[in-house]
Amino acid sequence: MEVMKILDFVTGKTCLAGLLGDPVEHSVSPQIHNTLSSLTGIDMVYVPFRVRENDLGAFVQGIKSANVIGFNVTVPYKQRIMGFLDHIDEEAEILGAVNTVKNDDGKLCGYNTDGEGFVRSIEKETGTTLQGKKILLIGAGGAARAIGIKAAIRGAKRITVVNRTVEKAEGLAEDINKIAAAGADAAGIEDFKKSRAIGDYDVIVNTTSVGMYPDVDSSPLDDMTAFEKGKIVYDVIYNPFKTRFLLMAEKMGCKTLNGLGMLINQGIGAYEIWTGIKVSEEITRGMHEALAKYLENTRG
Ligand code: NAP
Repeated sequence: MEVMKILDFVTGKTCLAGLLGDPVEHSVSPQIHNTLSSLTGIDMVYVPFRVRENDLGAFVQGIKSANVIGFNVTVPYKQRIMGFLDHIDEEAEILGAVNTVKNDDGKLCGYNTDGEGFVRSIEKETGTTLQGKKILLIGAGGAARAIGIKAAIRGAKRITVVNRTVEKAEGLAEDINKIAAAGADAAGIEDFKKSRAIGDYDVIVNTTSVGMYPDVDSSPLDDMTAFEKGKIVYDVIYNPFKTRFLLMAEKMGCKTLNGLGMLINQGIGAYEIWTGIKVSEEITRGMHEALAKYLENTRG
């Protein structure tokens, strides 16, 4: 075969970033970060690091001594990685989870950009802030925790956490009340449905996996008729783009958003931490549109 061209998108000067997790094959973070590097002119490549549990310590040691500028962290290491870091940012400490690590000449610093990703997504896609809002948070897992705590920090007036396992909702509401002035309370999802209190809220966020492919006929709430036109309904799921939950809300005239914005903005938050640059609004918007098209085409 004749060699036509030397590829030079990776050279001796290129720095490396990646995604730590197991599994990592499903992730679109490589596509997000490699596109960001090409758009912002940073000489970086981003690759998946699938690491087995017993190898986590060796992985961290290797990262510290190599020219890796940082990495994202996904399941199952968002908590375990914290024991290996030299410094943990205050918000990540409160959340008890790290999704972004920066390598500062061998010193590893942990951050969490999930809550920031959600807030930026709401602000950019609706033009409103969470200041003074009454928020209904469905779910009490990792995503709910990141969103609930960030919403409280950003001045939400009231946060109600409803969950299948009520004890977890109560625990999260308690933690939210410890860190900010938002009045947080909790309920079991079935009791909440009976109360028909949905009309009391400005923003509803589904943070559970209910409705995610292939479970597309399910919804965390089955009746949204008491929810008024113009209010905001967010689903952290982005497969499918429109869950049954969002379709119901759309019928009621609500402003609906899927989790793609949160995904992109948490990635941009991490990219900004590693590179020190500010990603423009134009690039963020363009990334959102392009990633939606990409996923639509690759999902088949
Ligand atoms: P997690 O910590 O495991 O929490 C899962 C939550 O979903 C819990 O509240 C759980 O309730 C609830 N749940 C699961 N199955 C349920 C069912 N059949 N009926 C009722 N409730 C159910 O997971 P996570 O990390 O928070 O992730 C949750 C979802 O958010 C996933 O779909 C994930 O892909 C998505 N996510 C999206 C982004 C983004 O950037 N868009 C970021 C993070 C996560 P119990 O406590 O009762 O078990």
